[in-house]
Amino acid sequence: MPEAPQMVFLKEQTEQFVGQLVLQAEGSVKVLPFDRLFNQELESIKTFGKELFFCFPDFAIRIHLMFFGKYAINGTVNRELQLRLTFEEGEINFYASDIKFIQEPLDSLYDWSTDVMHASFDIDAAIEKLYRKPQRLICDALLDQTILAGVGNGIKNDALFRRRIHPESLVGEIPVLESKQLISVCVQLSYEYLEWIREDTVLQNWQAYRKKICPRDHTPFLKGNIGKPARSCYYCEKCQRLYLPEV
Ligand SMILES: [Zn+2]
Repeated sequence: MPEAPQMVFLKEQTEQFVGQLVLQAEGSVKVLPFDRLFNQELESIKTFGKELFFCFPDFAIRIHLMFFGKYAINGTVNRELQLRLTFEEGEINFYASDIKFIQEPLDSLYDWSTDVMHASFDIDAAIEKLYRKPQRLICDALLDQTILAGVGNGIKNDALFRRRIHPESLVGEIPVLESKQLISVCVQLSYEYLEWIREDTVLQNWQAYRKKICPRDHTPFLKGNIGKPARSCYYCEKCQRLYLPEV
């Protein structure tokens, strides 16, 4: 599933259409009033976590790529077309995505300060929300989009590895200062990840996610589906500390 950096990258790729009129809108997605899109000017593009918004004067189209979503700019993919927006110069096509039509102001629906890649990201608010559920596994908490919008499985695994925290640690047993550093690493990794996408070097840059050997100890990573819902974790039992209550 795409994480925040992939959506910021998609925003960068589609910014060429800002200021242009929609000449045609079509596709199989039923929730969009295609006729209302005609001749509307794309005012801006925003992202929130794993979501992207095409903002028009009176409404927005929200795109979430989910697990298997694809898009093509000035090209097509051999799948059922969900949405094609044809602008004055070029087009964008979406497939297998979750698409919504939003008429309410985005500011009333989204708390931008929870987005790890938003300028207003509020780490203290994230910490406060994190410790509201002290019994939760840290690997689950990092994926909670109401705490850290935009963090997905890749950032989760590598952030825990960088901070040497075992994914099955209980949130309430991790010192606050350590959690704060962990969240800072999630933010930092998001921007590094964006850089890797731009350079097309994502796979070689992960240290733990989808890797076999711990680069610190040269011992095999353990891989397991952990959490609710279970998501893949890659971790080293030697160098990642498990925070549990003392017995
Ligand atoms: Zn290790």
